[in-house]
Amino acid sequence: MDRIPYGRQSIDKSDVSAVIEALQSEWLTTGPTVEKFEKALCQATGAQFAVAVSSGTAALHAMVSCLDIGPGDEVIIPAITFAATANCVLYQGATPVFADVVPTNLTIDPESVRRNITSRTRAIIAMDYGGHPCDYERLTNLCRHTRIALVSDACHSLGASFRGRKVGSLADMTAFSFHPVKHITTAEGGAIVTMNETWAKRLKRFRNHGLESDTRSREAQGTWTYDMLDLGYNYRLSDIQCALGISQLKHLDAWVQKRRTIAKTYRESLKKPIVCLTESEPGHSYHLFVVRTVGSPGGRRRDALIRALREEGIMANVHYRPIYQLTYYRKKLGDLTGLYPHAEKASEEVISLPMFPQLSEASVGRVINAVNRLSSLSGTEEVPNSNEKLVSQINV
Ligand SMILES: *Cc1c(COP(=O)(O)O)cnc(C)c1O
Repeated sequence: MDRIPYGRQSIDKSDVSAVIEALQSEWLTTGPTVEKFEKALCQATGAQFAVAVSSGTAALHAMVSCLDIGPGDEVIIPAITFAATANCVLYQGATPVFADVVPTNLTIDPESVRRNITSRTRAIIAMDYGGHPCDYERLTNLCRHTRIALVSDACHSLGASFRGRKVGSLADMTAFSFHPVKHITTAEGGAIVTMNETWAKRLKRFRNHGLESDTRSREAQGTWTYDMLDLGYNYRLSDIQCALGISQLKHLDAWVQKRRTIAKTYRESLKKPIVCLTESEPGHSYHLFVVRTVGSPGGRRRDALIRALREEGIMANVHYRPIYQLTYYRKKLGDLTGLYPHAEKASEEVISLPMFPQLSEASVGRVINAVNRLSSLSGTEEVPNSNEKLVSQINV
């Protein structure tokens, strides 16, 4: 049967011609298309400044560096997120401190954030899990009258909004990713958006070695001298990629609507014992559609269901393991097991079902049918095991 991935890009003819046009232009990288893409991102998010970089991870690193966060500083992040949310803190020599998540939507729990604030806390990185915006109101209140910055890892939530305000205008700085499974793609790519012009200038230097200008702007100003003001990296995004990004952004609203329609169908059709995460915010942009297999000790019931789905070509996935349970972090930070019970329980129960704009109605039906059939079997654990036995017998 046809394989259904959990997420995938949509590329049409206009995307292809935009890339071809960029390839035939004078600038393959750091040309006028980068600025055009940045303007389009401002329009899409309501932010004033955008800085395109080579990946979502580079965007996160740039934000942490821009805040002069370094050794001795702490940054609070959700226990359930992608590794990059924590790694960017380590890149700067600072310490990630975890907060638990809200069990109904798996975004960072403001109450747990509050309990973890110390005199060393410099920033909170909110991550809009699956496209569900965090509670930015409570997070903003926690940071008010402190020197704590609120930054957003919005790699899941381009096109989402919180109480009518767009993601991108809710935090001091916001990072996006344009990896193929995200809402729009540039193959690899990312961006930071902000309302702060000083930060925007600094972020632009950060992506280009810390240099105060680039070749094209020096040429335009008739100068050839240059200076380096801070330590930066090569985190540039090419004109070819930005051309794809501009073309992709035109589809964003329609694609988010499509994702919401698919989510509605899933919600209306998936049956107990499967539990969908709660949609407490209509501005959800559904990067992921996540369900839980409740009462899944050690993840056994969940793992069995994923295995059974994959045998039918449905590539369900897990987002995510708690960061502190990853080997590198366990070695670095010690055993934190038990400190974040909602995160740990969720990590044993979550399944991301296929969710992308071009997922056909027939495929959605196939997923619903398979999940309802396979999850309601008593002793779900036994199903894939017996299948495995069968397979191994055949192979013998
Ligand atoms: C995808 C993702 C990233 C990293 O983005 P890249 O573009 O792959 O570097 C960071 N954080 C979260 C939550 C993500 O989903």
